[in-house]
Amino acid sequence: MPQIQLLPDSVINQIAAGEVIERPASAVKELVENSLDAGATGIKISVKRGGKDLIQISDNGSGIEAGDIEKSVMRHATSKLRDVDDLLRLCTNGFRGEALSSIASISKLTIESSGIRAEFEGGVLKSKEEAALPVGTTITVKDLFFNAPVRAEFLKNDSVENSRILDCIIRLALANENARFEYRADNRLLFCAAAGSLQSRISDCLGASVARSLLEIEWEEQGIKVRGFVNAPEDLQSNKRNIPYIYLQKRPIYNALISKAINQAYAPYGDFSPIAIIFLEMPQETFDVNVHPAKREVRFSRDNAVFLAVNHAVHNALQRSISYPSISITNTLREHAPAYVADTVSPTLIVDEKQVSEELFPDSRIIPVASGLDLAGKAPPNSPECLQIGKSYIICEQGNSMLIIDQHRAHKLILYERALAAFQNNESLDSQELLFPENVEIPSYLLPILEAQKNELKKLGFNIEPFGTSTWRLRSIPAHLKINAAATAITDFLQNSYDSKESDMFKKNSLSYANSSAIPSGAELSVQEMKAIVSDLLFLQNPYETPRGEAVFMKMPLDDIRKKF
Ligand code: ADP
Ligand code: MG
Repeated sequence: MPQIQLLPDSVINQIAAGEVIERPASAVKELVENSLDAGATGIKISVKRGGKDLIQISDNGSGIEAGDIEKSVMRHATSKLRDVDDLLRLCTNGFRGEALSSIASISKLTIESSGIRAEFEGGVLKSKEEAALPVGTTITVKDLFFNAPVRAEFLKNDSVENSRILDCIIRLALANENARFEYRADNRLLFCAAAGSLQSRISDCLGASVARSLLEIEWEEQGIKVRGFVNAPEDLQSNKRNIPYIYLQKRPIYNALISKAINQAYAPYGDFSPIAIIFLEMPQETFDVNVHPAKREVRFSRDNAVFLAVNHAVHNALQRSISYPSISITNTLREHAPAYVADTVSPTLIVDEKQVSEELFPDSRIIPVASGLDLAGKAPPNSPECLQIGKSYIICEQGNSMLIIDQHRAHKLILYERALAAFQNNESLDSQELLFPENVEIPSYLLPILEAQKNELKKLGFNIEPFGTSTWRLRSIPAHLKINAAATAITDFLQNSYDSKESDMFKKNSLSYANSSAIPSGAELSVQEMKAIVSDLLFLQNPYETPRGEAVFMKMPLDDIRKKF
């Protein structure tokens, strides 16, 4: 008997949904793209429980013809493509006719457009009635993955899903500054951007100070136009892994080659992943967008030319910024910094704190509340005599041996163990209060996580509260952290939540905390500081290596030393 049979449409749609709709954010991306394709200039996105319970997108676009509504949820049903040649002339985000059918097959979907409301369940039409909706389209997705429980299990907590949704919205909003966007999660407004210039859109999406300090790119090479903005060299942050915003013919794409071309232009300054917004335009016949169902990837017929065009474009912008340092916007900004920024505060105000903290806390913005290592206090009793060499290593005697300790690794390990214990026991680490609260800008897409994780951050010593849209106000920071590393440390913490499995979170966050706060190599230490590090280190159960497996100290028995002579 023949064994092979054609799969029913419902199964095919669910298989396609596996590729197209990975999580709520992918559904939002597809639906917002449809609104943009329909020429919408106003798009409202609303979600409940991270998009798992509800996703609703309302737009003022062209709408779906009443007679087309049922067709729109069928597989490969599209109004954007007629024949193969159209694939070469695409100017829409969508073209595969797969998104609505995929979403419909794994949810309870309602489409309202052209005076009709149609409800589908698992892709099957359940009801169709007249509805009053004057313009545009509203699409409501309830119980996403209701019939795909395994997929639902892989989703993260609501704040991380909200963050991922916001990242998708920002990626689309940056390329469509003529449309107004509004995003609410559980009835709270998380993002709003009015129609306007690209500059004002960047400011809404990435923060005002980022927008002001970016360098403009304008370049053309071998028929490839490159436009956009990148970080000025003086604003680079080494440990920040920014994912570039790359657009080809205005559609967001991910492309490792282009990311590499950007980063390589920064090579003279170090190993950086800068903030970059890159718009590419090139002839349609030189690339293929039909590579992956989620349409995130593209193939270029001239990889090399694309790489060089982007690399030269960024390089040129950086060169220009260096030739004219006096007109750099960032410098001007710093000169006009508001009076409450601690740098400009009269020194008489802080003289007392200065006396207390001069040695350990050269940054006068900080009042030491408690220092976890007790570096300022007396050395612990019975701690061995210590000597620092090369401003990086501590030498001391222990039992019948000499120890050579790497100060940075030792401190990192101590802080790591302490943070891990604090997370596990639900305790808080020591913090230092700021004399003057400092404003920090956190990448907008991480804000939903920041709101949800405020208390976890408090355990590490960060006391932070909202102050404007993407600006937050810092009142205290971990005991050992330098104030200028605080924004990066917080961003790392939030990015860990965004990227990692929940089970790895404590470890990852403890590690980021330790990395950002540990005493660096090359820092001169007082005898008390060295003694505190040594006694804390030797108190640990496993003082031998850092969480990454790097050796913390070398031990040389006296007998061995004797033999050498
Ligand atoms: P594609 O976008 O690839 O064409 P979709 O499955 O995303 O496929 O959508 C199917 C069709 O439904 C689209 O081609 C379009 O005609 C229609 N459509 C979907 N959403 C909207 C919307 N918000 N406004 C107008 N038309 C829409
Ligand atoms: Mg589409």
